[in-house]
Amino acid sequence: MPHPDTLLAHAGGTTDPATGAVVPPLHLATTFERGPDGSYPGGYQYARSGNPTRARLETALARLEAGPDEEDELACAAFASGMAASAAVLQTLAAGAHVVVPDDAYYGLRVLLSDVMARWGLAATAADLTDLGALQAALRPETRLVWVETPSNPLLKITDVAAVAEVARTAGARVVVDGTWTTPLLQRPLALGADAVVHSVTKYLAGHSDVLGGAVVARAGSDLFARLRDVQAKGGPVMEPFGAWLALRGLRTLSVRLERQCATALHLARFLARHPRVTGVHYPGLDEHPGHAAAARQMSAYGGMLSFEVDGSADEARAVASRCTVFTEATSLGGTESLIEHRASVEDPGGTTPPTLLRCSVGLEHAGDLVDDLSQALG
Ligand SMILES: *Cc1c(COP(=O)(O)O)cnc(C)c1O
Repeated sequence: MPHPDTLLAHAGGTTDPATGAVVPPLHLATTFERGPDGSYPGGYQYARSGNPTRARLETALARLEAGPDEEDELACAAFASGMAASAAVLQTLAAGAHVVVPDDAYYGLRVLLSDVMARWGLAATAADLTDLGALQAALRPETRLVWVETPSNPLLKITDVAAVAEVARTAGARVVVDGTWTTPLLQRPLALGADAVVHSVTKYLAGHSDVLGGAVVARAGSDLFARLRDVQAKGGPVMEPFGAWLALRGLRTLSVRLERQCATALHLARFLARHPRVTGVHYPGLDEHPGHAAAARQMSAYGGMLSFEVDGSADEARAVASRCTVFTEATSLGGTESLIEHRASVEDPGGTTPPTLLRCSVGLEHAGDLVDDLSQALG
């Protein structure tokens, strides 16, 4: 298998045989003609169950992940958003099942579980998965799924995926990792023992803050993947073709974007760690981060996300974010532009996020300009 950098540079496949175009075509057709014998000679029938542009993205993403065994054949299903992909994973479970999720899981997952899935008979327990004792205590006989997010949002706690997978397997539960923050380049959850990985394509994979999409990668022949395809084709939360096409375009530069983003994030984390107005920096690339050793074992670099806590009140922290001029004050992550966000004010009151915490998504600007911006904003 070629290096991921090579796979990415060619994401979307080969020259179009019909025209010689070196860039994949965008297929908008919703329906496909039958042959004289009633078959579908192109392999497509109706766009909810399959579309050639979406299929190219699914193939590209499946090839980027890797299982524990080189021979493992993986498959991908692309969804309308990261949350549609997450919901599809939950919909593979039966009513009455129980899931364990991180106590600081992505806010969207927490509200999906509490406001939607609970009504369908899915029970969830939040636990600190960086503590295997807490995971053990959260497991029930009917636990079918353990959801992992590492680094977590917004505190960048590191969960040991291999250790969680072993505990979950013994308990008869599957492990799904939300790989949005790491992409297949920084962390390979299936190789660490997970059964599936979920991505919000909206973030690093598409990478330009202009596409909403999601994906799940799992073993091609697995019962889990068959159920995901069922939810995708029958429920219809599919990624639309133009989104898939833009995501393929974004993927071709993922490797170079992420390399810069990881390097700049480390530089900013070191700058912030020395700043007198900063009381804490959360970035697993710092030696003093409690998850640094675990991150070094399972990640190839530490990512483009970091958060820090400002000395003072929540209002003062918010004021720091609004004084930034190179960072844009907005939610989301993974684009070319750096974003800064006062996280507690986008979550429910009473959440676990420290009120003075600011979260940064590091973009592609010059590191010196980003340092200067934070420096003037902190005053
Ligand atoms: C953004 C995000 C999601 C949800 O993805 P959408 O594409 O916005 O639906 C899920 N998990 C994580 C970690 C995210 O950052």
